[in-house]
Amino acid sequence: MRFYNTLSKKKEEFVPLNPGKVGMYTCGPTVYDFAHIGNMRAYVFSDTIRRLLEHEGYEVRLIKNITDVGHLTEDDLAQGDSGEDKVARKAAKEKKTPEEIARFYEDAFRSDEERMNIIPAQFFPRATAHIPHIIRMVETLIAKGHAYEVNGNVFYDVTSFPDYGKLSGNTLENLKTGARLEEHPDKRNPWDFALWLSAPKGHLMHWPSPWGEGYPGWHIECSAMSLEYLGDTFDIHTGGEDHIFPHHEAEIAQSEGTTGKPFSRFFMHERHILVDGQKMSKSKGNFYTLQDIVDKGFSPMDLRLLYLSAHYRSQMNFTWDSLAQAKKNRDTLANFRERIVSTDTMDGTDIAADARNAFLEAMRDDLNTPLALSILLGFVNRVNAGLDRKESFDMTAAAGFLDEALGLFGMRFESSTTISDSDEIRDLVARREQARREKDFALADRLRDELAARGIQVRDSVLAKDLPAT
Ligand code: AMP
Ligand code: ZN
Repeated sequence: MRFYNTLSKKKEEFVPLNPGKVGMYTCGPTVYDFAHIGNMRAYVFSDTIRRLLEHEGYEVRLIKNITDVGHLTEDDLAQGDSGEDKVARKAAKEKKTPEEIARFYEDAFRSDEERMNIIPAQFFPRATAHIPHIIRMVETLIAKGHAYEVNGNVFYDVTSFPDYGKLSGNTLENLKTGARLEEHPDKRNPWDFALWLSAPKGHLMHWPSPWGEGYPGWHIECSAMSLEYLGDTFDIHTGGEDHIFPHHEAEIAQSEGTTGKPFSRFFMHERHILVDGQKMSKSKGNFYTLQDIVDKGFSPMDLRLLYLSAHYRSQMNFTWDSLAQAKKNRDTLANFRERIVSTDTMDGTDIAADARNAFLEAMRDDLNTPLALSILLGFVNRVNAGLDRKESFDMTAAAGFLDEALGLFGMRFESSTTISDSDEIRDLVARREQARREKDFALADRLRDELAARGIQVRDSVLAKDLPAT
């Protein structure tokens, strides 16, 4: 199995640190709004890696953090350490507590992940529950000469870490020739970044610390939580391409500065989804949520198949036409699945073996999902045509390969939307999903009955967040 490693800028053979086990960290959502379908691509990408690893027999420990404090509105752009806390800003706007905002959007995120058939992480640690871990790490960084305090703010001294820039190419030398950053009165160097920020009067979230009342920076949260749950060195760290710099570059500096050991061995990043050639983002307002997709009559699985139809390292331009094409492909797969189930077992040629080998080879080659998908669809077309001509196939092998491929793709077929395309049915299903999400179970049951009256059975899986913690 080979993965492209952003650290080495090439595909490398993947061998985990500990035989049979993989430690993996995926930067989770900042919970101040619904995830958009760009964000969802990042989580489906991580889930696809995990499914492949489990398929190959590894036991995967996946940690996905919940950022509920410290992500500032300007953090994604540069290291200005300016702007407002995203969760606190939303709380002030909606006259709620930051905790209410964070829990609401965390729930929404977990339910979106469930709808996308993403296997839940083993643990979703929240930043606000790890303030002591964060403070400890900042203390260590100060003691080791990597950080300094000024006026209740603590900054990472980027000049103290010679490897700074090894992930993104943004070495200090390169940064100096690039765009100028605004000077920060407390920083020794404009590229230093905040580990701990002093809370101004009236700031909604703050904790006592050795440097006064304050709150953590966004980058240190992931370093502290990955250290806690995965140890000094682990196997794979994932995120979107905008995380390469500054977020993951900062994580490396903090983690390796603390432990003196290598941090994540592989960094894998998915590229962005664009809308009309522009990055889909909340700040630009040009985004769609999963609910927008469902409201238009599509299944979350159409979206999943759309993601898989492009390689994760290529940008993807979202259009409704491409989503409609993905839906057609999903229908093809669903119908084929039904056909296999209702076809009697028969002996005949094993037409699946070659397709299976080619499919797995594509997946193991840095998750070449577009190639794997075309191999799968080619296989389906060949078997369909053969069955039409009354040829005999080894249907057990065909069904086995189909299940394996759909499992790797994370495709779930249980919604009635595959059975009927009528607008009325789609509307009923969408309304029922909405009712379930809003926990209006009486309405959900009524809509289920209406669907049943039209001959549609709806099967739901348990919401991931309702499962006991593992
Ligand atoms: P956030 O909640 O903003 O921290 O982002 C969550 C994840 O979504 C991160 O891994 C981002 O890199 C990723 N992401 C943000 N915008 C996009 C986009 N337009 N396309 C793909 N991934 C994105
Ligand atoms: Zn992170």
